[in-house]
Amino acid sequence: MISMTGVQKHFGDLHVLRDITLEVPVGQVVIVVGPSGSGKSTLCRTINRLEPVDEGVIRVDGRELPAEGKALAALRADVGMVFQSFNLFAHKTILENVMLAPVKVRKTGKSEARSRALELLDRVGIANQADKYPAQLSGGQQQRVAIARALAMSPKVMLFDEPTSALDPEMVSEVLDVMTSLARDGMTMLVVTHEMGFARKAGDRVLFMADGQIVEDTDPDSFFTAPKSDRARDFLGKIL
Ligand code: ADP
Ligand code: MG
Repeated sequence: MISMTGVQKHFGDLHVLRDITLEVPVGQVVIVVGPSGSGKSTLCRTINRLEPVDEGVIRVDGRELPAEGKALAALRADVGMVFQSFNLFAHKTILENVMLAPVKVRKTGKSEARSRALELLDRVGIANQADKYPAQLSGGQQQRVAIARALAMSPKVMLFDEPTSALDPEMVSEVLDVMTSLARDGMTMLVVTHEMGFARKAGDRVLFMADGQIVEDTDPDSFFTAPKSDRARDFLGKIL
């Protein structure tokens, strides 16, 4: 579903992604961990071309990333992304937030978009908040809306970049539960997170990144119980 070959990315003199090669099969849930600044967010952002790469090839569902225009917009619609900050539209209701992209980008009719949005809000457990505004919801609820909003485009892949890092601790599990259920339903997911419980329960695979490279690529249990590299051991010693 995602294929990256020889991907290189610099920010000025900083070599942020070093020769990244990665295949993510359909339905796989890949957890990405690593120290701050190791390139995890940049990796996510290259997959829907929020960041262009300097070298290498990225394919989503077999198609190479188009550089721009309608083809790029179509590809972005296939790759849902959820960030640490929820980025909901403050002046739109929860329902409007979820309906917006399908109506504008997919040209879905309003009544169809509305019933689909309500279905998705129900799925993430907040259908009863549909007419409220983002500021009236808790952080955990807002992040669940952000997930519903991404799902509204019927993406083939979901990217999550530290989706629970900005949440109060008591709200983390409600978001992880939604992600776990998505994973169980077979969604292909790339998840940057240090939530070990989630990684072990929902993850098929862990990538450990350091200095822009994938240093370990293994199953979650092996990674968290017996990391191979000194860097991973050092990293786990700090977060656990
Ligand atoms: P992580 O998500 O693992 O913390 P990032 O991918 O955000 O790492 O960043 C990797 C490195 O690239 C960091 O050193 C960061 O400061 C730098 N970086 C990220 N985005 C930009 C940008 N837009 N311009 C310049 N440097 C950036
Ligand atoms: Mg990051």
